[in-house]
This record gives sequence, C-alpha cells and structure tokens, in this order.
Amino acid sequence: MIEIIQRGPKAIKTCPKCGCKFSFEKNDVRINRYEYTGSQTYYISCPQCNATLDIYLNIFKNRVGDS
Ligand SMILES: [Zn+2]
Repeated sequence: MIEIIQRGPKAIKTCPKCGCKFSFEKNDVRINRYEYTGSQTYYISCPQCNATLDIYLNIFKNRVGDS
C-alpha cells in the first residue's frame, strides 16, 4: 500500500476564468488584510490571465491526518 508521508510543497489550482491549471507554492500566496476587521484573506494571481483567485492556506497542510 502506498501512503503519502508528507505532501509536496506545491499546490495545484485551476483558474475558473481562463481554465489554466497551475502549480504554486506558499511563497506565491499574497495576503489581503482588512484594516477594519483585522481579518485577512489569501489570494494568488493566475499566471495566464492575472485574475485574482482566493485560496485557503490549509491547502498546504503537511501532515497526513491533519484536518
Ligand atoms: Zn486565469
């Protein structure tokens, strides 16, 4: 049986606007901070059409079994 011990650093996303599929790393993620609420969201720009795509950082959770 093959098991993933640790997931790779790259995540894959498909752009809903242009359909391009790309991989990215945590370093590529930008932070959008809201002054009023203090909350922040994470986004990445599509390398093909430059659309801003919201992402969730838990996509990078490393250990199997984390939820
Ligand atoms: Zn795109």
